[in-house]
Amino acid sequence: MHTREQLYIDGKWVQPMGKGSIDVFNPSTEEIIGKIPVGSAKDIDKAASAARLAFNSWSKSSISMRTDILNALSNKLKERGEEIAQTITAEVGTPIGYSRVAMVGTPRVVARSYAKILEDFNWEEKVRNSIICKEPIGVCAFITPWNFPLHQIIGKVAPAIAAGCTMILKPSKEAPLSAFILADILHEIGLPPGVFNLVSGHGSEIGNYMSSHPEVDMVSFTGSTGAGVSVSEAAAATVKRVTLELGGKSANVALDDADPVLVAKKAIGACHQNSGQTCSALTRLIIPESMSEEVYKIIAEKNNSYHPGDPLEENTRCGPMVSLRQQKSVSDYIESGINEGATLISGGLGMPEGISKGYYVKPTIFANVTSEMKIWKEEIFGPVLVITTYKTEKEALILANDSIYGLSGGVWSKDEERAIRFAKGMRTGQVSVNGGAFNVSAPFGGYKLSGNGRELGTHGLNEFLEIKSIQL
Ligand code: NAD
Repeated sequence: MHTREQLYIDGKWVQPMGKGSIDVFNPSTEEIIGKIPVGSAKDIDKAASAARLAFNSWSKSSISMRTDILNALSNKLKERGEEIAQTITAEVGTPIGYSRVAMVGTPRVVARSYAKILEDFNWEEKVRNSIICKEPIGVCAFITPWNFPLHQIIGKVAPAIAAGCTMILKPSKEAPLSAFILADILHEIGLPPGVFNLVSGHGSEIGNYMSSHPEVDMVSFTGSTGAGVSVSEAAAATVKRVTLELGGKSANVALDDADPVLVAKKAIGACHQNSGQTCSALTRLIIPESMSEEVYKIIAEKNNSYHPGDPLEENTRCGPMVSLRQQKSVSDYIESGINEGATLISGGLGMPEGISKGYYVKPTIFANVTSEMKIWKEEIFGPVLVITTYKTEKEALILANDSIYGLSGGVWSKDEERAIRFAKGMRTGQVSVNGGAFNVSAPFGGYKLSGNGRELGTHGLNEFLEIKSIQL
């Protein structure tokens, strides 16, 4: 049992001023595996004061000190890697093999990448009669989701440390446990008091309070578009910087010269990773009509290799949904696809065969999906792939861009130049050409309702900086 009763404020574990606790569930066993405290507005005030005070010195700390902290953080994440992977698998239900790589490996590399970026980052430049200086923006509030809990936290904490900012983190209530481990690590490696503060609690209560807080200079939010809008509204009166990483409904497009076998095989993993609970998942597959029969056949077969199971089993590729609420929501979308007349080619409603407990759904594939259908338009956030066909490349691009979101995308072609041309036409923050891999040093973020601002790499660091011009 992971029981946490205190919040981390000003370099100490302290009693919360809020009342009660939040249960953390294991979605594959439905058992309670942890408890975290409910922080209140008063706890946020205390954390904001500590962060404001610490900003005076941390903003002037040496680059070598920040680099040492980031490297030490990366090393500790490696040292405690198995414990963190097991913890995140227990609270999110992520298959353990994927947890080791994506839930621990990626954050470890991201922390280190910021130490590296600091080695030759340009803090000042001369433009005619001006010196242009980059300075840390101040006290930052971080509100994060449950699906890649530590990765989404490190994507904010590491660049903020690198920039010289101080911060208050509110992790999600579904998967908060790795945030508490992170606080232990930052304490152990000697991050000065007040630079990092952790206040857990309910988003609808303290999330809005953090966003509107006059002592907070910037809020960085990752989560659903609805909550992101609410954060922006709460932040508006204090004119603070707001960066948002929100939902997606990303298109994966096969051009007519693509290899149908490769497209079909890769499309499943690109949709079902982390049991489909990935904001950048490629959930709309767009293929030429002439390819459809071959692609459907392979995809239906390949979908079986994602048969859900115990996330602690090494061979499991699809775990449960994170919560009962999420299981119901994904099931409702599957039902809606059936009712709206899409062709179910694999999966469907009900529990997967052989499973009687846990928040599971069947990985599901729909073909003949049209752009009027709800399953085409809305983010499902589960292992549900929707497929449609096109006749011309122009039509393929219209379909790809037919979304309120613009977070990610994919394009497949034997001709890389042609695929890049198509990628440039997609209104989305990142595109993978022929399965190009995720890059922790490339900016990550969305167009349209997928958000604004960028995380990771040098672009991610710049979000935490103010710019000053000194005229001579
Ligand atoms: P969510 O919006 O319910 O919660 C995210 C965080 O916001 C949590 O910490 C929650 O407590 C808090 N919150 C909730 N309501 C709030 C409010 N009114 N004001 C302030 N804070 C509030 O999202 P979720 O269910 O945890 O995560 C799933 C969503 O996040 C999906 O839509 C997914 O696409 C998106 N997401 C986006 C990215 C990205 O980088 N673009 C990454 C991961 C997840």
